[in-house]
Amino acid sequence: MSSHILVLGGTTEARELAAVLAARDGVRVTSSLAGRVTRPGALDGDVRVGGFGGAEGLASWLREHRVDALVDATHPFAEAITRNAARAAAATGVPVVVLRRPGWRPGPGDRWHPVDSPAAAAELLPRLGRRVFLTTGRLDLAAFAHLADTHFVVRSVEPPEPPMPPDTRVVLARGPFTVTGEKELLRAHRVDVLVTKDSGGAATAAKLAAARELGLPVVVVRRPPLPPELTAVPDVTAVLEHLGRAVLPTPSGPRGGGAADTCP
Ligand code: NAP
Repeated sequence: MSSHILVLGGTTEARELAAVLAARDGVRVTSSLAGRVTRPGALDGDVRVGGFGGAEGLASWLREHRVDALVDATHPFAEAITRNAARAAAATGVPVVVLRRPGWRPGPGDRWHPVDSPAAAAELLPRLGRRVFLTTGRLDLAAFAHLADTHFVVRSVEPPEPPMPPDTRVVLARGPFTVTGEKELLRAHRVDVLVTKDSGGAATAAKLAAARELGLPVVVVRRPPLPPELTAVPDVTAVLEHLGRAVLPTPSGPRGGGAADTCP
């Protein structure tokens, strides 16, 4: 009998975890994607796409597909699916662990302004600059839509939809990005302030180094808190340790590598 692991994905780490699990004997892995991105890239193991229909739908899926362990490897700002994972795990008794990459930390020379939400970032922005590089993801643009006197450069994997600020230039791109490339972008658009979520990870960290080198302020949206009943670990190795031999009967070496998140 093989163990069935459901990985809630949409991140680089989820992709890495799927590759490692798919390489193990006695393990079947299914990755779940929300379906927000039209070309999400290849994943090892089985893949399902689309919402489950809330916590109850996820619980039903866990039962129907005889899932032995659930790994929430979604983005740190994907609050609803993480809440649903906690509820579905509690309802079914399926063990759950959250794979959450560490957040970014400011270093010497950084001019960071931490805030609790995109709305708070929008409130702060007019005091910091008029030409903004906005990398919070296309679903958070509505919070900035009322800022008519500010020019926004919005980077997104997929084209954003209204509501968005009236003076918006869209740059479609998917990480990883380089510090040199990010500095070029900031200079080319004469950006004077950067807005980002504290997504963490290497693929999109170059913009922070670029802002530091150019002396630009950065508005950093803090992560939402995890539901208290969930345990978070920082990387794929820690997930494997957490799941343990009961769920992962036959250890073997990892294979494959990562790609960038489905958001910038
Ligand atoms: P969210 O607000 O937490 O989730 C909204 C709904 O989307 C959930 O209730 C669920 O629908 C469905 N969903 C989300 N993730 C899913 C998954 N992995 N598999 C199946 N259904 C999923 O999520 P979000 O912030 O819109 O993010 C959507 C996806 O994009 C996530 O998988 C996340 O990892 C990825 N992502 C998000 C961000 C970000 O900044 N939020 C950045 C990069 C990547 P039902 O209730 O119907 O099950």
